[in-house]
Amino acid sequence: MNRLWVRLSIGFTFTIILVTSIPLVFFFLFRLFGLMDFTPPEYIGVTIENVEAFQGFVEGFVFQQLIRSLITAAVAGIGTGILISRSIAQPLNTLEEGARAIGEQNLTYRVDLNKGSHEILAVARSFNQMADQLQQAEVQRQNLLADVAHELRTPLTVLQGNLRGILDDVFPLEKKEISRLFDQTRHLTHLVNDLHELAQAEAHRLPLNFVEVDVPKLLQQAAAGFRPLAEEKEIDMRVELLGKLPYINADLDRLQQSLNNLISNALRHTPAGGTITLQGESATPEHLTIRVIDNGQGILPEHLPSVFDRFYRPDASRQRYDDHGGTGLGLAIVRAIVESHEGTATVDSAGENQGTTFTLTFPVENS
Ligand code: ATP
Ligand code: MG
Repeated sequence: MNRLWVRLSIGFTFTIILVTSIPLVFFFLFRLFGLMDFTPPEYIGVTIENVEAFQGFVEGFVFQQLIRSLITAAVAGIGTGILISRSIAQPLNTLEEGARAIGEQNLTYRVDLNKGSHEILAVARSFNQMADQLQQAEVQRQNLLADVAHELRTPLTVLQGNLRGILDDVFPLEKKEISRLFDQTRHLTHLVNDLHELAQAEAHRLPLNFVEVDVPKLLQQAAAGFRPLAEEKEIDMRVELLGKLPYINADLDRLQQSLNNLISNALRHTPAGGTITLQGESATPEHLTIRVIDNGQGILPEHLPSVFDRFYRPDASRQRYDDHGGTGLGLAIVRAIVESHEGTATVDSAGENQGTTFTLTFPVENS
């Protein structure tokens, strides 16, 4: 009784019966108040004795016809009800099957609806879009798990191997050895902290303390902070301000963190004699742009679209943490921080040894 097609059929049938029974009601009312006059006209030659019989015949005939049309209407009502309601219920059943399949983690399932009302087709389209996004999110989740497992496995293997060696008296328990192992634990802590931070930023749950930020001052301070290291590597560190920069509304610590990530990348990938420029520009009245420009090793075009991805390694064979202690999450964190400020982070490079430019753009209207 609770099925849609049964309820709709009953509804249709009752409506049609109600409409077609109106003449029958009038028929009885007219008869009750004697308003029906079936007296035959004289010219058809019915004798006076037969008038009553004639009236009975006509009344019976009319009644019969009304009952017949009522039955026909009822049958037609049930038929139409079943047809119409089935055509509505069927796509809903298909959608319900789809929802159940997705609920059972069959994320490749798509509803196959190409005919039906505009609204039903729109629901089917949205349903399939939702399934696409869920499938994508699931692939990302699995990739992340695989990446995290891989990144954790390497330092853990080093730690385990070395500790085993010490236990088996293969390596002496010297300070140098312990210090190497301690570095591995530091790397693990760094990795776990970065992952936590990235997860928070991507879920827009990073606590942000918005203040008015003076960008020229921020760039000068960042340059001053990195200058000793840059000088040590014989790299020239400059600040360039194009036009008068407005204040932006942002979390100062997070902005410094993003800038530090970009500058330490630039320092790592720029050879001695190179230049790193921290540039601030008020490109449009609504946007403020911060660029970190280096003339170092550059990034090949095929790697550009992926450098902001977590754990992305342009050189797959390189052991990242042996090289510089990085986790490969720096740029992913930068992008997540910038996006949580409604900004964008992009990268440009003309290729190998052509330098790299990272551009962060922030809206000004918030300030
Ligand atoms: P972490 O930032 O965690 O210390 P990382 O620096 O390797 O590690 P990201 O900052 O995410 O990770 O950078 C990803 C990769 O992008 C780097 O490994 C590097 O190959 C490339 N890259 C980043 N900045 C530059 C740059 N200025 N010039 C050339 N390559 C760069
Ligand atoms: Mg980095």
